[in-house]
Amino acid sequence: MAEVTSGLTFRQSVDHMVDRALALMELEPGIANAIKSCTSVLQVSFPVEIRGKVELFTGWRAVHSIHRLPSKGGLRYSESVDQQEVEALAALMTYKCAIVDVPFGGSKGGLYINPDNYSREELKRITRRFARELSAAGFLNPATNVPAPDMGTGQREMAWIADTYKHLYPEDVNALACVTGKPVAHGGVNGRTEATGRGVQYALQEFFRHKEELNASGLDGSLEGKNTILQGLGNVGYHAAKFLTEEDGVKITAIIEQDGAVYNPDGVHVEEAYYHRCSHGGLKGFAGGEFIEDGTSALELECDILIPAAIEGVITESNAPNIRAKLIAEAANGPITFEADRILRNRGITILPDAYVNAGGVVVSYFEWIRNLSHMRFGRIERRLDEARGRHVVRALEETTGRKVPEWISNSLSRGADELDLVRSGLDDSMRQAMQEIIDIRSRKPEIEDFRTAAYVIALQKLARSYLDIGV
Ligand code: GLU
Repeated sequence: MAEVTSGLTFRQSVDHMVDRALALMELEPGIANAIKSCTSVLQVSFPVEIRGKVELFTGWRAVHSIHRLPSKGGLRYSESVDQQEVEALAALMTYKCAIVDVPFGGSKGGLYINPDNYSREELKRITRRFARELSAAGFLNPATNVPAPDMGTGQREMAWIADTYKHLYPEDVNALACVTGKPVAHGGVNGRTEATGRGVQYALQEFFRHKEELNASGLDGSLEGKNTILQGLGNVGYHAAKFLTEEDGVKITAIIEQDGAVYNPDGVHVEEAYYHRCSHGGLKGFAGGEFIEDGTSALELECDILIPAAIEGVITESNAPNIRAKLIAEAANGPITFEADRILRNRGITILPDAYVNAGGVVVSYFEWIRNLSHMRFGRIERRLDEARGRHVVRALEETTGRKVPEWISNSLSRGADELDLVRSGLDDSMRQAMQEIIDIRSRKPEIEDFRTAAYVIALQKLARSYLDIGV
């Protein structure tokens, strides 16, 4: 995936978007360049014996920024991976962390592989070897560089990486914090798997709380009944669609996958579609809607909200003129190219940018990293005390009023928050806060026309501040 549009690589596309924000700021060019450039990139090739033959694998890990440590970002297993893609994604991580106030630098890694071609055992050997290479080069470490799941990887790979690191450095008391997105039984935090999708839901909920912005995008009311098209039924897309349909009443009218799209004006059943995709490898044959062979054409169907949750570069200058959504929430990284972004803005389509919308994953990774450093699950110390306090409040109310407190109030008061409650609350707060900052800066600086530029201005201001504070 070298070229995304008009000869621009993904990396250039991201940089051009950042330049739009820089043009509205008075940042010293030297600082701007320091912020934009990638600090270091590692490329490794390593052999692994697969079914009696030696295969050579190539992987990358780019560190975009180190103003805060560790540098943070996912590890992708895909045949789209190359150096410039990893660099673009690492840059997005820097801006993402700044926007949602996560005190990390930006990094990203990838392995050129189609994981479907390998068994679990083989993937385990490949991942463990990759982890050793990353660690030997200083690109895997709880204090400096902490990977996480991304496309093609999940809890399983993160557990293998953590275990490899732990065996290499058994004396490192914080070894588990070398990677996030681990299974809960192996140092993960509750709520990390669904965090990015949950964050997409919280971002949309927050946008719908701001009526002026909402109306300016041609929408009104609540999320209930909003016709929505989803591209990508992977971890992020599935969870976003699940929460938005089950909890907010959003109607998913089309789901687009690699082998085609399913369209149903009455709403596609997300859980059933996901089940079909998991058991058949795609949406073909799914009975819950009309199948459209040319899946990407469904991006152009009329809808209120379009959620691209798959890969970069899916909305380009060729299809941007035909998009008929009012609002696009970028759940994937870089789904809209630089040129397409300009076309969509000129057509008055509102875009909530990736560096904000999909930041939920790294927010909860931050919580997991903190949990690993503290060696204790969230809520363990205070939960029972909170419960006892709640019960006392109920008793005090009943004794002073002489009336019984309704059961649902008494239940909710006398229940202490568990880890999942706390993680959700922290994620919701982070997404609300970031959106408010984006909206605030637009109202203070009318020359900032769109949400992406606003988000980048905020990120660049925070980054410049920390570069200046360190005294570069
Ligand atoms: N891969 C995710 C992202 O692109 C998560 C990164 C992380 O948790 O470090 O944001």
